[in-house]
Amino acid sequence: MNPNTIHDVCSNKTTLESLSESFLKEELSLYDKLKKVNYGPKVKYVLKPVEYAWEIHWDFLQKYCRSAKKILFLGMNPGPWGMMQNGIPFGESSSARDFLRVVGSVKTPPSFHPTRPILGLSCTRSEVSGKRFWGLASHLSAGDPLLFFEHSFVYNYFPFCLLDEKGKNVTPPELKGLEAGVKEYIEQACDASLIDVLKLLQVEVILTIGRYAQNKVQGLVNKRNLPQLVVYMPHPSPRNPARMEELFNEKWMKVAIELAEKALAQGEVPVGCIFVRGEEIIAKGRNDVNRTRNATRHAEMICIDEVFERFKATDVFKDVSVVVTVEPCIMCAGALHDLGVCSVVYGCANDRFGGCGSVFDVAAVHHRPVPVHGGVFASKAMELLKTFYMGVNPNAPPAKVKTRKKTECKLVS
Ligand SMILES: [Zn+2]
Repeated sequence: MNPNTIHDVCSNKTTLESLSESFLKEELSLYDKLKKVNYGPKVKYVLKPVEYAWEIHWDFLQKYCRSAKKILFLGMNPGPWGMMQNGIPFGESSSARDFLRVVGSVKTPPSFHPTRPILGLSCTRSEVSGKRFWGLASHLSAGDPLLFFEHSFVYNYFPFCLLDEKGKNVTPPELKGLEAGVKEYIEQACDASLIDVLKLLQVEVILTIGRYAQNKVQGLVNKRNLPQLVVYMPHPSPRNPARMEELFNEKWMKVAIELAEKALAQGEVPVGCIFVRGEEIIAKGRNDVNRTRNATRHAEMICIDEVFERFKATDVFKDVSVVVTVEPCIMCAGALHDLGVCSVVYGCANDRFGGCGSVFDVAAVHHRPVPVHGGVFASKAMELLKTFYMGVNPNAPPAKVKTRKKTECKLVS
């Protein structure tokens, strides 16, 4: 077969389809759905690497997409110096040439940013995340790509590379100003395609690369009750992981802060907390100590009880990301570690009772430490505490304001 375009690969079949051909058909079907989309005012260039870098991409599939794959490494979308250049996921050029040993040339896409020309395998600029990713694959397989691909494959949730007018990569969560229903359309198309790929490759474990992919996939697996196990690994990019984490954390912290504000309005120490599983908030809590006259009714404890009430089980906690406006106290941090939550993200530190390092570090003495990240919207969380302790809040009961502590804003959950 000597096709002129990638679409020729899928036509004129006389024999049974190979796995690589079926996989390619799935990719092109998603391409067809996403080509119709208007990606909003921020996006000036939509690059479709499988089309213009199809020779290299097809060589990659023929070499490595030939058998069932237990593990699917799942990224978010192509980067400008990786897959956008050559059609290989995380396709840093030297890794594509030297480790993957793929061959082929590229065509010029209909439209591209002048500072981001498509150079294929001769692109000399390295992409850190691709270099790191394929470096890991090479390490795991002692330099033999066939060994790596015997049970593994790599795929992106969203297949296009989107650039703004300056040529900067616009990732799917950074899309702005989309018409109504467009975001949902993109997600449905990508979800459906991912499910087909999982079936086609008989995937058992999805190793999500970065928080965005993890968040998307865990939500999908939960919603559709899919059999695959989802495992998270940090994105190897020097820029994106931090930004992706930020987007994830900020989005949910805003909800937690709203709960803290409600607590303040009710005369409670303003701490809000949510438990997030995939894309879903499965519990919401705020401090309820004063009303109940129970010193243990902290926002986190209220969320824990809500989860027990709803699910009647503990195995759900392993998928829960805890987002709370103030560093959990030692009691709450201990409980969250014991339950084995996925991660804890908090706003400001809790210098009097903090169990994530401020007073005591529960993670340091726990046999299964949970990743903890603080400082998300810390000043806003602290401002709410100040309002409470300085007695600015008209609803705050005067008896609860400790005048001796007026200059300190430390007490809490
Ligand atoms: Zn607490």
